[in-house]
Parts: sequence; structure tokens; C-alpha cells
Amino acid sequence: MTETVKEAEPKQIEFKAEIRQLLDILIHSLYSNQEIFLRELLSNASDALNRIKFEMLTNRDVLNPDAELAIWLEADEDNRTLTIHDTGIGMAEDEIVGGLGTIAHSGAKEFLKAMEEAGKKGQGVTTDVIGQFGVGFYSVFMVAEEVKVTSRSFRPDAQAVTWTSTGQGAYSVTPAEKTDRGTVIEIKLKEEAKEYARNYRLRQVVKAHSDFVAFPIYLKEEKPPAEGETGKKIEWPQINEQTAIWRQSAREVDAEKYKSFYQQFTFDFGDPLLRVHTSADAPVQFYALLFVPSKKDYRLFGGKDDYGLKLYARKVLIKENFKDLLPNYLRFIEGVVDSEDIPLNVSREMVQATPLLEKIKGTLVRRLATELGNLADEEPDKYRTFWREFGPFIKEGIATDPDAKSRFMDLLRFPSSSSENADDLVSLKQYADRMKPDQNEIYYILGDDFKVLSRSPHLEYFRKHNLEVLYLTDPLDSFMLINLADYNGKPLKNVDDAGLDLPEADKTDEETPAEETISSDDFEKLVARFKSVLGERVESVRESKLLTDSPARLVNPADAMNASMQRVQRLLGKDYQVPKKILEINRHNALIQNLAERLAVNDSDPLVDVLIEQLYANELVTEGLHPNPAEMVTRIYELMQAASKG
Ligand code: ADP
Ligand code: MG
Repeated sequence: MTETVKEAEPKQIEFKAEIRQLLDILIHSLYSNQEIFLRELLSNASDALNRIKFEMLTNRDVLNPDAELAIWLEADEDNRTLTIHDTGIGMAEDEIVGGLGTIAHSGAKEFLKAMEEAGKKGQGVTTDVIGQFGVGFYSVFMVAEEVKVTSRSFRPDAQAVTWTSTGQGAYSVTPAEKTDRGTVIEIKLKEEAKEYARNYRLRQVVKAHSDFVAFPIYLKEEKPPAEGETGKKIEWPQINEQTAIWRQSAREVDAEKYKSFYQQFTFDFGDPLLRVHTSADAPVQFYALLFVPSKKDYRLFGGKDDYGLKLYARKVLIKENFKDLLPNYLRFIEGVVDSEDIPLNVSREMVQATPLLEKIKGTLVRRLATELGNLADEEPDKYRTFWREFGPFIKEGIATDPDAKSRFMDLLRFPSSSSENADDLVSLKQYADRMKPDQNEIYYILGDDFKVLSRSPHLEYFRKHNLEVLYLTDPLDSFMLINLADYNGKPLKNVDDAGLDLPEADKTDEETPAEETISSDDFEKLVARFKSVLGERVESVRESKLLTDSPARLVNPADAMNASMQRVQRLLGKDYQVPKKILEINRHNALIQNLAERLAVNDSDPLVDVLIEQLYANELVTEGLHPNPAEMVTRIYELMQAASKG
């Protein structure tokens, strides 16, 4: 296809210093993701095709206006070569010299810096992002011994030119014989990279990285001669999907197509739980196709950061794992965003600073919140799966992002005192809808486990008066409550809060038990004894108005750090100190009555203090606040010994 021309002496030109340094690293190091070189070259070809498309709209004087806009791949295993040919805009001599080596590239320096920093952090160097720095072309030297680029510009009078380099120090430029428009890149592969001269491998890499390039990519296949014929048959099948389904209207895409796209895109063989396919024209033009996967991805654990959306500008992928189009807590979402308003040649670092993206982000978050809400209403089974897999991310959002609260609060689900079991969940809306008419607060209790919570003494009063209590058993709930103080104006209150605003009706129908088995005097004495034994460890000791069965409970003083903050501190394990609480005791409980009697009979009865200590320890355990339950064992033996005396 190309030959170097006549007597012209090749011009040797040195690479700029930073490019030499970049090439040195690319040539001499081993990278696991070498295959991305093909993506970079195909994306350049696709850029060139987009540009000629534009040129043809505005300029009638274009070479080969009828040439098909496409890319052709041709591999030769025996000679270890790969050729990539496009009918794009092409390059004249000054453009090839400028584009491929001479213009000082700030991107090369920045890329080197990024690689160095990744190396320092021990993350291993990754070339995957090279394209974002505007130096993607050089990634070809990860696989090439020598590269020859022959190009002819679309300008009818331009001279074709060949650029050749081994990537070591310099390149040469000579005039070339090429009559048609476009660029041909001939790569002599390194021995270690010979796999890229095999068609099956090329298909794989195209599928993985360039399937949705907007122009056809053809691959040369040699078929054995058909029967009765001689000579191999040459075919050029198209190997990319090409259609950007996110740019179609949702009506045009059937379920099967979505599914195969999703599976190719995510390598998840399940069905997505939710799909959001949307587009907008104003204020920003964009298309988006987002998925909630069928399950949590391993990539979301262990500090890996290869999540994020694919960002396309006019069907050209400009960034994979783009993290700035969704808030971090929605990092489980997969998908594509494609915007006409992001210029193709925008410096990719700049993308992050543009207000366009903020607008897109706002729209996406709103849509996702709405669609997840609809999923909850319309497909409760799927929503349950969603909540199991991704609920913690929603809670994280509410804990960390003030905007998330109003948007995602209705997605929250909790078990409650009305639940049959831990999987029987209610939403805040359901809770609010069935609140008693004069109930002003939403009640919750914090604890580690559904079963333990359902036995909590705090619930006695609420059960008796038919007040529902949410069970917050996830460690994240405590963090979330720091931001979630109310739901539609109704404050969320811990049942252990000393200053609850309980419904009036229920306070008045508080029944006083018929028989007063201990005198007020004896009870007061017992309260005083509790205070002297527990001393500074409690805020105070007083009679409980709410307990009916249990002997005691710990409540949170009104001015104290709230219980969820205390739990957060305990979970973080930072200088944990048992918080000071109010101990409420129940004078109608048999144990309390026995204690009061014992004390009345003999105020130096040694068992009284031991029982008080153990009662307090029991309450700490119930609340999940005991720093070291094993401490109780000696005391329990002492009590068992007394009990077994008979
Ligand atoms: P970027 O694509 O980000 O500009 P690259 O290093 O990939 O950076 O490419 C450098 C430049 O070389 C491109 O901007 C373009 O001008 C030119 N170029 C590369 N490949 C082609 C091609 N196939 N056709 C036309 N121009 C190309
Ligand atoms: Mg490029």
C-alpha cells in the first residue's frame, strides 16, 4: 500500500526530552495491560474519522469524499505485524511531526508524574490511563519493535508522509506515496507481543475496549479455499458492535439487547436489578445508560478503585472508571454517559472542572433516586435484593452527604417491633403512615441483633402502648443517624432517651399497680444505696415510670452525646469509656422488691451491693456498652454460691 519515495533523504528528528523519558519507560517495562495500545490507536482512528466527518459537512474540497468511513485491521502472524488503516482526516508532514513527537507535551510530563506517584504508593504502575494525558499513541511502543505511520491529509494538495521510529531517541520523516486519504499504522511486534498478530486476540481486545467505537472495525480473515476452488478467500468481517445503544431511544432497544450489552459491559452474567436509560437536551446534552448490577462487585472492596462510569464524548470513550459523574456512595452503579457538549479534544484533566458535568451529575442522581423508589413500589422482591446488596451504600450516602438525605431517605428499610423476623422490613414512610394520631416522634432502638433487641427492657412500654420501634442493627445505622435527625419533620428518637415526648393518651392511662408491696421509704433507701454503690459511674438513679416487667434500664441523659454517637465511638474503638447513664429501676419488679426488703432488714447485708453491681453490669451488656463482660464471672460465682446455699 505504501512505499517510500525516490531520492528523498529521511529526516531524523529527536523526540522531546519528556517523550524520550516516557518512551523509555514504556519500552523497557512490563505491563499487564499492554493490550490497551490497540484501544488508543483505534480511538485515534475514530477521532480522525469524526474529524473528517465534520470537515465534509463544512468543506467541499476533501480528498476521496466517497471513501467509506471505517477502520481496517490486518494481522500477519508469520511476520509478526499488525496494520491499522483508517480513512480519517490524515496528517500532513507538519501535523505528523507535531502530533507524534515534537510539540512539547505537558501530558507526557503529567503522565510520568502520575506513574511515579502510583509507584510510590505501591499501586504498581498502570498505563491504562495514558489516553487521558493526550499521549495515547506512544503506548504502541509497549508492543512494537518498530512503528511506521504513513498518512495522507484530506487536503487534496498535501503530500503523503511516512513517520518511522523504534521509539529509541528519534524518529524519521520522509515523503511517501499514498494516493488515498487517511492513515496506515504498521507495527512490527516485539517477540513478547506476538499475540497481537493473531485474529482471535484482536477480536478479544476490540470486544473488551472498543466495541462501541462508532465506525466499523473490519478484520482481515483468510478462509481456506472453498471446494473446487483454489486460492484462499479473503473476507473482512466487522468485529465491533458499533451501535452505541445508549444513543438510541429506549423504545428502540429490546430487553435482549440491553442484557447482552450489560453482560459485555460488566462481565456480570446475571440480569441487572435496574436499568436507567435517559437523555437530555438542555441545559446539557447527554445520553446515559446506567445499571444497578445484580450483586455487589468484588471491585468495591479492598480499596480498589476501578469502578466508575465510562465517559464518552460523541461516542468516543474519553475515560473509563470516571468517578466524578456520581457521588462516591453510588459507586456500585455501572454504565455509560455520552455527551455532545464535551469537546473531543478537551484536555481530559479539565473535564473534572467543568460545570457541565455537575449538571449531568445532578440529573443522574435525581433519576436514580426516582427509579429506585419506583423499583421499591413496583417490584418489592427485586428491591429486597437491592437493599440487601446495596443498602449500606445508601446509608453511607446519608451519613456523608447532606444532599443524599432528602433524596434517598425513602429508600431506607429497617426491621421494627412489628416485624415477624429480621427480614421483615419497613420504610420510614410506612412507619410514619401508621403512627398514632398524637405521636410526634419516630422511635428506634440501637443494638447488634434483632433477637437481642426484641427482648430489650426499653421496649416494654412501647409494646404495651402499641408504639412501633425501629430496630437499627447495622453498625452503619449509628453513623447515619448523625445526619438523619428527622423524617419529614418528625424527629427520630432513641427509646433510651430521657426526654421523650410520648403521646399524651398513653401517659394518662398509665395504670398504677393495685398493691404497693414496698413502702416508699424502703424504695427511697434502695435508690440511695444504688447511688452510693455505683457512684460516679451513673448520672443518677431513679424510679422508672415506663418499665413494667424488667428490673431496670439505662437511659440517656437529655444533654449527653446521643446513643448513636456513643456507639460510633465504641465501634471506632477510640479511648472508649462507658458513658454515664441514668439507671431507672422498677419498683414493681420482684427482684427490686427483694433487694429493698433485704436492705430494710439488714443494711450491711453483703449480698445487696453485689446484686446492685451485677444488675448494673447486666444493663450495660443489654445496651452493648459493657467494655469487658468477662469481668462479671467472679461476681456471678459469688451470687451462685449464695443461691446454692439453700
Ligand atoms: P490524543 O489522541 O489524546 O491527541 P495521541 O498521542 O493518541 O493523543 O495522538 C496524538 C495526535 O496524533 C493526535 O492528536 C492526532 O493529531 C494525531 N493522530 C494520531 N493518530 C492519528 C490518526 N489515525 N489519524 C490522524 N491523526 C492521528
Ligand atoms: Mg489518542
